[in-house]
Amino acid sequence: MSKTALITGVAGQDGAYLTELLLEKNYRVFGMDRQAPEDYVDNIEHLKNKIILRRGNLMDQMSLIDLIEEAQPDEIYNFAAQSFIPLSWKEPVITGDVNALGVTRILEAIRRVKPDVKFYQASSSELFGKPETKPQNENTPFNPGTPYGTAKLYAHNITANYRDKLGLFSCSGILYNHESPRRGKEFVTRKITLSAAKIKLGLQKELHLGNLDAHRDWGFAKDYVHAMWLMLQQDEPDDYVIATGEEHSVRELVETAFSHLGLEWEKYVVQDPKFFRPVDLNMLVGDSSKARKRLNWKPSVSFDQLVKLMVDSDVKELEKSL
Ligand code: GDP
Repeated sequence: MSKTALITGVAGQDGAYLTELLLEKNYRVFGMDRQAPEDYVDNIEHLKNKIILRRGNLMDQMSLIDLIEEAQPDEIYNFAAQSFIPLSWKEPVITGDVNALGVTRILEAIRRVKPDVKFYQASSSELFGKPETKPQNENTPFNPGTPYGTAKLYAHNITANYRDKLGLFSCSGILYNHESPRRGKEFVTRKITLSAAKIKLGLQKELHLGNLDAHRDWGFAKDYVHAMWLMLQQDEPDDYVIATGEEHSVRELVETAFSHLGLEWEKYVVQDPKFFRPVDLNMLVGDSSKARKRLNWKPSVSFDQLVKLMVDSDVKELEKSL
């Protein structure tokens, strides 16, 4: 019999990739989003008729209980979150309510309605904040430095509490930045690839960026949703770091994107104080050996390939509307 999955935050980047993966595996997929289905962005436009979409909100306990009662899922993947770090300084209370308490609401709904559900929680490399060691693994101490990271740490710990003390099958994936043509335009990868494409096509003149020396471990979102699925297929629930293990700077990202289009980035990029952050991270690079060994997972797309595929996709989309 085919399995049923419920994905919260289904209209985001990871929701769209995971939906595609689960449909290939013959799952029945319920998708939850806080917006009404007619207001979704285009990430899941092509999937709308293949899944069952429901409105729900991590700030509302009853909406979660009702949805789990209706779907009777085997697996739940929680992607619903306020995911943009600068916004977590402007809306710290909403960020905490959704990203932290929202996860307790899901776990409580599972415990009361269907305690055999396998639960995936989207944890984040932001849990590490400014770590003392590099690369980080599952044993590196957490030390988040933003309201986003602090809320995600609560969620990470409560997911482990319900596993250790109440016996739920609940796992967290500590995912490093993962990107794709479906990434939100406010994140630095997509902002750069879209701007490079627009500049190439004469639709934009300059690109304003913040800290070019920030470093990240950037991977491809489609590879990362596969790791999430693998976590829920194991005999025992556990937490895993998912990362490429490679570190690159924003400057390298800009260079790679612009040179792919034959452009000299220095002519177009303007450093703008508006995009600098009160706390910025330079040490984040992940050691995913546990996932590589136990899940037999590894990334399939390199940094170079990732940036180029995002640039190519943005050029192609823009050309359609010219
Ligand atoms: P995050 O790791 O979830 O915060 O992902 P982002 O893509 O938003 O940011 C990654 C890094 O890029 C951070 O260290 C930012 O400081 C840096 N960065 C530099 N310029 C920009 C910019 O214009 N926008 C964003 N979003 N990030 C920038």
